[in-house]
Amino acid sequence: MSNLSERIVEYIQNLDGEVAREIDVANKFGTSKQYVHLLVIKNKLGDKLVKYSLSPPVLCSSCNAKISPGRNLCSVCNKKSKLVNFTCPVCGRDFQRKKSSVNYLAKKFPDRKFLCSKKCNGSYQGSRYGFRKSEKTSENT
Ligand SMILES: [Zn+2]
Ligand SMILES: [Zn+2]
Repeated sequence: MSNLSERIVEYIQNLDGEVAREIDVANKFGTSKQYVHLLVIKNKLGDKLVKYSLSPPVLCSSCNAKISPGRNLCSVCNKKSKLVNFTCPVCGRDFQRKKSSVNYLAKKFPDRKFLCSKKCNGSYQGSRYGFRKSEKTSENT
């Protein structure tokens, strides 16, 4: 038995409640998984190792919610990341629009303002284009 295999066998035998897979041991000793596997079979160390890693859960990079591996954001944050925050220039309210449609509109209408509602949009357009509000002007008569 070579020195390396001895060290690997010893390491696995002394795994004290530690969770390791064959691949973890292989990486630790800079050898192949197959090599470790053969040692495990030969030395009947199968019950010392786990088949699948109990790897730390993947967390959403924004809110730390548990998510499935291979993803970066949870569904809530993913949805949020597709929204753009605006403050309505008319009423000062914060609101959100879909990034995709904002990008589209900003490209098509570069000086477009985003307003929270049709109502604010109406009064914004009104003040911009100087539409008179008949009910206001009739007050002084
Ligand atoms: Zn999240
Ligand atoms: Zn508004």
